[in-house]
Amino acid sequence: CGIVGYIGAESVTDILLKGLQKLEYRGYDSAGLAIVDEQQEDVQLVKEKGRIATLREEVEKANPEGTCGIGHTRWATHGAPSARNAHPHQSASRRFTLVHNGVIENYESLRDEYLFDVDLRSDTDTEVIIQIIERFVSDGLAVNDAFRKTLSLLKGSYALALIDGEADDRIYVGKNKSPLLVGTADDANVVASDSMAMLHITKTFVELMDEEIVTVTRQGIRIQDLDGNDVKREAFIAELDE
Ligand code: GLU
Repeated sequence: CGIVGYIGAESVTDILLKGLQKLEYRGYDSAGLAIVDEQQEDVQLVKEKGRIATLREEVEKANPEGTCGIGHTRWATHGAPSARNAHPHQSASRRFTLVHNGVIENYESLRDEYLFDVDLRSDTDTEVIIQIIERFVSDGLAVNDAFRKTLSLLKGSYALALIDGEADDRIYVGKNKSPLLVGTADDANVVASDSMAMLHITKTFVELMDEEIVTVTRQGIRIQDLDGNDVKREAFIAELDE
């Protein structure tokens, strides 16, 4: 239902929680966030059924730290509302972590073709995406290539944000038929399904078009189409108050 992401100079935890809170008005049944940090061995993941206030309590207990992370509010379409089905979802090795808005219409045939030997750990259409990305990376593709190849197989709607446990300097995002924006600031860049969610960081946004991906780093953004060609797009200023 809603997506936020941040990479920059500041601690990301409160920034993500604040963003998720701004998305509350859209309705949701569960929420979660994931943070990657070089100092930590694993991606730090907290997700809960219910309110952002509940997520916040769990986040305060787990105290995840870092300057790169993604968050999600879920409106379940595949799989009951539960902590297990809440986003972010992780690949089998837990290297890759993903949030998704939308519906993958061909997830069952993708699962049967690419993941027949993988034990899935949720009932969502979303998990198939992250497991296939991991499969392509273990087959030898670079993460950017695996991401684009996976997206080219998907039918349906998606806004996605992906982090890699082995690289805390980037967030990969992609979209098709679900809105997704990238925001730019001094020393930080952000991701949001709705600019409202990130006005506390920036008012400058770049809109993504269908079947584009972006590699978001602290220093900048790189937009590509699914064939890997670079795309240039002007930013706009969101005429909204925080
Ligand atoms: N289809 C996904 C799920 O049910 C994403 C739903 C959403 O957009 O929140 O988990």
